Amino acid sequence: MSAQDFTGQRITVAGLGVSGISAARALAGLGATVTVVDGGDGEKQRATAAELEADGIAVRLGDGETLPEGTELVVTSPGWKPSSPLFAAAAEAGVDVIGDVEVAWRLRGPDAAPWLAITGTNGKTTTTQMLASILAAEGLRTAAVGNIGTPIIDVVLSGEYDVLAVELSSYQLHWAPSLRAHSAAVLNLAPDHLDWHGSMEAYAADKGRIYEGNTVACVYNVADKATEDLVREADVEEGCRAIGFTLGTPGPGQVGVVEGILVDRAFVENRQKQAQELAEVSDVNPPAPHNIANALAAAALARAFGVQPASVRDGLRNFHPDAHRIQHVADVDGVSYVDDSKATNTHATEASLAAYEHIVWIAGGLAKGATFDELVQKSAARLRGAVLIGRDRALIAEALARHAPDVPVVDLDRTDTGAMSEAVREATRLARPGDTVLLAPACASMDMYLNYNKRGDAFADAVRELAAQDQ
Ligand code: ADP
Repeated sequence: MSAQDFTGQRITVAGLGVSGISAARALAGLGATVTVVDGGDGEKQRATAAELEADGIAVRLGDGETLPEGTELVVTSPGWKPSSPLFAAAAEAGVDVIGDVEVAWRLRGPDAAPWLAITGTNGKTTTTQMLASILAAEGLRTAAVGNIGTPIIDVVLSGEYDVLAVELSSYQLHWAPSLRAHSAAVLNLAPDHLDWHGSMEAYAADKGRIYEGNTVACVYNVADKATEDLVREADVEEGCRAIGFTLGTPGPGQVGVVEGILVDRAFVENRQKQAQELAEVSDVNPPAPHNIANALAAAALARAFGVQPASVRDGLRNFHPDAHRIQHVADVDGVSYVDDSKATNTHATEASLAAYEHIVWIAGGLAKGATFDELVQKSAARLRGAVLIGRDRALIAEALARHAPDVPVVDLDRTDTGAMSEAVREATRLARPGDTVLLAPACASMDMYLNYNKRGDAFADAVRELAAQDQ
């Protein structure tokens, strides 16, 4: 397929967000007749609509459900649920629905940059950025795209890259049927977004699409059998290999860790007998177990693309994670304060809690249907105490009472913005020198904050306040 396929088509773009706007502009630029539809009709949307309309793109606000007359293709934004009425209308009219990633894929020319793709429940952004950093260290022209950064359609149309590190959400994979990556990794699989996908099976199946048609390597997590199962079920190109990553000693065909060294037993000449040193664990930032796993997955994809071992090391050294992901804020009176506001589900929080020995845990917010028993059971031994905030904090309090009855719990019965200062003060009271006060809420933030960034900022502000008082 090529750009020609979109020229002259009547295309409906669902959603007036970042990806919808990028898709609408790109498709109109290719000569398609585009209408953007969105259920909202707010001030901001009207302003955006006016800009698009000035460029000849039709926008229909206030109705995201009915299919515009004459539509030949629907291009959806990733957040729209498969059960949305617009898609039912499209199905009835025999019109295909695809996502922005599929559009980008179809726009690639014969010499386009290959894609190294990454999905998983947690760690996607971090791993994709690590991979881009490694590829850049090798001297390749690359970008971290997909769920992050510049819209993927714009990047593909620019044609300026040698290889792309592509983060793909389960939503994007759902709407990208013909995507065929050079190599791909599924980092882990835990229940998330089940309201969107309908079931765990449907969620896993969408994640598994990332392996379809891989040509060189399908990278899976040895500690998460579900990811290996997805490799087995995938239809790949002949000669494509399954490569495991593990925090333990790697077997042949795997990458792993031996005595503090990240090693490759997959892309070496004699993998029965040899291992290639890639980097030291201390080159990974931060060197928490889950993040070392992310680094191994990124390294495996880079090695599948032929990157030299020294570039893996340099790329990992150059990489610094985005804010609010296990971010060290300050040490005050021998206590370390760490912001992992991005840990918005139990799986991420479990990884975060596993990274420290003695923790005062700040948690709570919107549970999104999650249960906390398993998380508390696995982490109880590390907990010095817990401070609970937010709307669904009782669910966590109950799990603590059941599985960690000796852990002191402070339940903060307020959801105003000053709550975080109080939470930090209470956590400080519970902490002993050498401990870590960790904000890893296991919940979404929207009951108290605009987003997880704001929640993390509030935590960091409160810690700085505390540090200032201390001086
Ligand atoms: P995503 O893009 O998948 O949301 P991020 O890289 O932004 O992932 O990390 C989100 C959160 O998940 C972080 O707060 C971190 O604590 C946690 N996390 C990162 N990598 C992993 C992993 N491999 N396993 C479990 N949790 C992880």
